[in-house]
Amino acid sequence: MAGEPQADCLFCKIVAKEVPATIVRETESAVAFRDINPQAPTHVLVIPKVHYPDAASLAAGEPGAAAEILRVAGEVAAEEDVTGSGYRIVFNTGSGAGQTVFHAHAHLLGGRGFNWPPG
Ligand code: C5P
Repeated sequence: MAGEPQADCLFCKIVAKEVPATIVRETESAVAFRDINPQAPTHVLVIPKVHYPDAASLAAGEPGAAAEILRVAGEVAAEEDVTGSGYRIVFNTGSGAGQTVFHAHAHLLGGRGFNWPPG
């Protein structure tokens, strides 16, 4: 069923605390943790506790949980003190765009300069 935990999903296991992660914030519907392979001084993943394969399906199925991802990302950006210099929130969607974990997640990246267009 949409939103239900998936036995083979790494991020569902992080939500369930079955796989360790450096959690920086947790709310009723979201978990934020440091990316294991950081691409910036601040690189935090913000994920919903419910399982949807990508951000768009999360927004369609549970819009409140999707909004919470953005709210938490903003709070973590403030905590990490990257709001002044600017930060980026990225939702890779589909393998062609670099998505490797098919549980919706936002990358919060900050603490360095960014180029546009992104690679
Ligand atoms: O957007 P994409 O699906 O590629 O992002 C998945 C991210 O999950 C990667 O940046 C990867 O480093 C991260 N990851 C993690 N902890 C794990 C496995 C993957 O932070 N145990």
